[in-house]
Amino acid sequence: MTTYPASFCPDCGTELVDRHVDGRERRFCGSCSQVVWHNPAPCAGVGVVGEDGVLLAQRDVPPGRGEWSIPGGHMEADEPAPVAAARELAEETGLRVDPADLELVDCFHTSNGDGKYVVSVGYVVRAADCAGTATARDEVQAVGWFTPETFAAHDGVLHGDHTGRFRAAWDWFGSRA
Ligand SMILES: [Zn+2]
Repeated sequence: MTTYPASFCPDCGTELVDRHVDGRERRFCGSCSQVVWHNPAPCAGVGVVGEDGVLLAQRDVPPGRGEWSIPGGHMEADEPAPVAAARELAEETGLRVDPADLELVDCFHTSNGDGKYVVSVGYVVRAADCAGTATARDEVQAVGWFTPETFAAHDGVLHGDHTGRFRAAWDWFGSRA
């Protein structure tokens, strides 16, 4: 499978053609007689929530460099979603959390319109269950704790579909207070 529509066969290098398979046009290798599937990329993220709000990271990579998002990223092939979310949190913010402490909160499907689609699994965890101090690390310009109200007063932009996850994480925290 590929996350962008493929032009060439990943196995033999033959230029792919369009063929109608399973109800829609697919990229097809005539030499290997195989479909090169185009699938969404699985991602995972975690909203860390405390009295000061939800931890957001300001992206230092495209797409949406400079925008704020819930920490997260691509899953490794052999990585369960909560493990991926905990790893991305540590890489981006330095906060460490036991994947077993993460609670599922949402799942969204999105695209930047460039042919790549993402399915992102969202978790939440209390800040009190994390170790370390949040700082800007890999691919992050800055980190900050925001409630929906303080973020609205801040001059920032939330990245893509992270508005819903941000709100869901804050509401989850409020429902447990
Ligand atoms: Zn081939």
